[in-house]
Amino acid sequence: MSVRDESEDLFTLPALAHGAPKNRFPELSIPASAAYQIVHDELLLDGVSRMNLATFCTTWLDDQARRLMSETTDKNIVDKDEYPQTAELEQRCVRMVADLWHAPDPDHTPGTSTTGSSEAAMLGGLAAKFRWRARTDGPYAAAKGVPNFVCGPVQVCWEKFARYFDVEIRQVPLRADRFTLHPDDVAAHCDSNTIMVVATMGQTFTGLYEDVAGFAATLDDLQQRTGLDIPLHVDAASGGFLAPFTAPELIWDFRLPRVRSINASGHKTGLAPLGCGWAIWRSTEDLPEQLIFDVDYLGGSMATFNLNFSRPGGQAITQYYEFIRLGRVGYTAVQEEHHHVARHLAQGVEPAGPFELIHDGDPLRGITAVSWRMTEETDYNLYDLSDRLRSRGWLIAAYPLPADRQGETVMRAVIRHGFTHDMVDLLLADVRRSIDHLHRHPLETSLTRQEAGGFTHDATPRSA
Ligand SMILES: *Cc1c(COP(=O)(O)O)cnc(C)c1O
Repeated sequence: MSVRDESEDLFTLPALAHGAPKNRFPELSIPASAAYQIVHDELLLDGVSRMNLATFCTTWLDDQARRLMSETTDKNIVDKDEYPQTAELEQRCVRMVADLWHAPDPDHTPGTSTTGSSEAAMLGGLAAKFRWRARTDGPYAAAKGVPNFVCGPVQVCWEKFARYFDVEIRQVPLRADRFTLHPDDVAAHCDSNTIMVVATMGQTFTGLYEDVAGFAATLDDLQQRTGLDIPLHVDAASGGFLAPFTAPELIWDFRLPRVRSINASGHKTGLAPLGCGWAIWRSTEDLPEQLIFDVDYLGGSMATFNLNFSRPGGQAITQYYEFIRLGRVGYTAVQEEHHHVARHLAQGVEPAGPFELIHDGDPLRGITAVSWRMTEETDYNLYDLSDRLRSRGWLIAAYPLPADRQGETVMRAVIRHGFTHDMVDLLLADVRRSIDHLHRHPLETSLTRQEAGGFTHDATPRSA
């Protein structure tokens, strides 16, 4: 290839005169500016992340957070000895989160950053499995069978945990009048092979909080009656950085002695950039030694417990930035505003169609989200509405409820940092316009879940 003049217009470069390499490793080099333009332009077809109300994850960051992320792209968080201050900032975050969740001794609470709640959940589950395996007292003296855990409707990471680590998942079917697991239904599914009960603070289906204190009381009673001592793990992926600020009177965390571990996504309500989660244990006894690997750190060693080895350090660093930038006062103000915005959306959605709110953004009942279902048959379904809204750029998930309510479809919109009152007004105008359009142009056949497809809150296993 001849060397071309730098002054040449970008779009006349030979590299842009034909399609980008797609299926085979490219032979030749092209100028960085051309490669950048190809990649940048292809991404124009992606949805606009801030109009994506299906995601729980951070889609807005201030300039300082972006600067820290770009300044730290070269830092590997596993290199504790080489980047001791990155390690230090991560440890400060662990202590701060332990304090936020009322761990008995925040200075000595074991915890780690992770790539997200999924990794954190796996670690919490693995610790429970190792603890269960080591028990030989009372009802645990008999030979052990296949380990299991009991839960209500959970995010797919728990199905993954079950499959990848050979643990049986006992997902209790929903009662016909409920969207969360009823505490009275927990004990009947537990036995001496139950390694934990998983409670969800911020269900992915509806945004509702489960009754963690109710689960704890049930399990306390079970222990009294049978000797079975079953720990609680709280999946607080989205509630972990909300409830402490907007519903401090809700008791769901380490204030309940039965709660032994908690996971949360820093990159959801923690306001950190994508790729940040937290796993925290109640005390050192709750994190089995077998899960710990030591790495060099300032002439000594530091414990690590992660599924990955190399991971970017910027996420934990920027999480620390968010913690010290906002503090309790700032997080409370930000999250209360999201609840207000969610309630504004709820008030507008309910009268727009034959809709019944499941969660209206009430901070005592759930996260900063709104979920609703249809109360009567009409000439469109929620998948059709989702599809219409997509034509205006709004990404809003519609999906069936879990068993035993899988016949019902719900729609959910998650309100996050950067989504304003005014954007809700724009969205509501489009909801009303879409419904009007669907009435005026009734579809011959409504969309199915697969056809509405593309984005969901979840993933489905390919084989049973
Ligand atoms: C999002 C979510 C997860 C998975 O978290 P990631 O950070 O996406 O890995 C797990 N549980 C619940 C309840 C969630 O909302």
